[in-house]
Amino acid sequence: MIKKINHIGIAVSSLESQIPFYRDILGLDSLGSEEVEEQKVKVAMFSVGEVKIELLEPTSSESPIAKFLEKRGDGIHHIAYETDGIIDEIRNMEDSDIQMLDKEPRDGTHGTKIAFLHPKSSGRVLTELCQPGENGC
Ligand code: ZN
Repeated sequence: MIKKINHIGIAVSSLESQIPFYRDILGLDSLGSEEVEEQKVKVAMFSVGEVKIELLEPTSSESPIAKFLEKRGDGIHHIAYETDGIIDEIRNMEDSDIQMLDKEPRDGTHGTKIAFLHPKSSGRVLTELCQPGENGC
């Protein structure tokens, strides 16, 4: 079952130049940053209420984020919905003829499991399902 919006992913060409806006101007709590090698991105997380903001900077021109930035520039990249059963959720999507980019969950940040829907199936809004790890996500 989908529980809530977990985070909003924002593509940035430079974490260093965007972090001060979220940290100093908006005053959001920083949850730190980490590199996700599989997706070739550096991620900085902030929290605001129950929702997180995920800033994504590509570490390689091969990164899907680099391709997004080339096409569309900096901006909102995806919306992530939290579920307590990602495998069931993926099956439900497929049963409803929703095309999945990830037919099996893969590793996200902080031990989360994530899966993306194909934007063709979600009105061109890139949509992520995420299931928190043991320490939340
Ligand atoms: Zn995300």
